[in-house]
Amino acid sequence: MAEQELIMKLQEAIEHAKTSTFYHNHLLQKRIEKLEDFKEIPFLTKNDLRNHSPFGLLAAAKEEIVQYHESSGTTGNPISIWFSEGDLNRIVNRTNETAVLFSRYDTMIVRFPYAMSIIAHTMHETGKSNKTCIIPADSRTSITPMSRVIELLIKCETTILACMSLHAIMLAEVAVSQGLDPKVSFPNLRAICTAGEPITSFRRNLIEELWGVPVFDNYGMTETGTIMVDCEYHHLHPAHEDFYIEVLNEDLTTSTKPGEIGNLVITTLNKPATPMIRYLTGDTVRVSEDLCRCGKSIYEIHGRKELQWRVKNRQFDIWDLEEIISPLSSRKFWAARARDHVLYIVIERESTTDKVACEYLDFLQDQYGVEIKIYYIQKGALYDRQEPLSFGMKGKPNYMLTELELDYILNSLD
Ligand SMILES: [Zn+2]
Repeated sequence: MAEQELIMKLQEAIEHAKTSTFYHNHLLQKRIEKLEDFKEIPFLTKNDLRNHSPFGLLAAAKEEIVQYHESSGTTGNPISIWFSEGDLNRIVNRTNETAVLFSRYDTMIVRFPYAMSIIAHTMHETGKSNKTCIIPADSRTSITPMSRVIELLIKCETTILACMSLHAIMLAEVAVSQGLDPKVSFPNLRAICTAGEPITSFRRNLIEELWGVPVFDNYGMTETGTIMVDCEYHHLHPAHEDFYIEVLNEDLTTSTKPGEIGNLVITTLNKPATPMIRYLTGDTVRVSEDLCRCGKSIYEIHGRKELQWRVKNRQFDIWDLEEIISPLSSRKFWAARARDHVLYIVIERESTTDKVACEYLDFLQDQYGVEIKIYYIQKGALYDRQEPLSFGMKGKPNYMLTELELDYILNSLD
């Protein structure tokens, strides 16, 4: 988009947002003449959203609203998001850019929570827009435990499984525990559509290895719906016509250089009912130096800012963690904690013969310049297999060990 066109769209986005009570007071009164003017606008924070829910950010007449969602903040009040019919259609259009190419010949299991985030509804409606047959198998109800999803995959000749990446790994394990082979026992399955948490290239490879089908990812949030989807080369690309994206350094002022990880700031350009102007998402992202084979910039989502481990001056995120464990034979379920200048990684053991070679730990120390300890712990220690509901229903995967959990694990090793 040419800069002048972008400035015009940003100005329109601001004018639209200012029809809400929150933005009326929050946004500069002056016009945006150049991009620098836009960058003077204060960030929209989760606290702003929380404090002004339910109606403070609503920039549409109530009769235009057709759907309501809440973003489950980890703390405090939930965030209210209102959608018009046009908003939902645009979300479906963006999701339809996914190179999985949903069709009328597909049957898709939607394995996301239907309350109260948007992703289940996004996949559901996107499938329906292509006449795909939808099986709503909510991930947070006792009606559809993991074993029933396996049953539905087989008996309904399901072609697409839509779920969180961690759940795809869990479902493969449940299948194996039933004597099935995920690569053989689901001959109709042709793709797995992931969303709901960032997926690293290492985890993507793991899922493709387990299931023998390609993975197509979707990055978005309930505040905006889908923002980026996978192209045919399995890289995320944003919908630039609907979003202005900033990737900012820790100073939250300057932009990162290509290849660097920065803070993702989102502005909605399409005048949604709940506009986001310079929304500090709390997610980190890396825009690759190299273009995708499809010609677009590659965006890698590196996860929540809280989900980082700092050891001395070295910062680790889930990409680092999954790269570290990627050569290991046990690498499905892990969690980590930084303590006393050491990065502790614990992994559920897949086989009694699995071991971490001392040479590999030495290599890691050389590579990262800090001590990294890896422990295998018994299966079920991180995700309880005896309790089928909690195993399948864990809302958000937990990769961050608490002090107490690490103490408990280290003590039980001796
Ligand atoms: Zn691409």
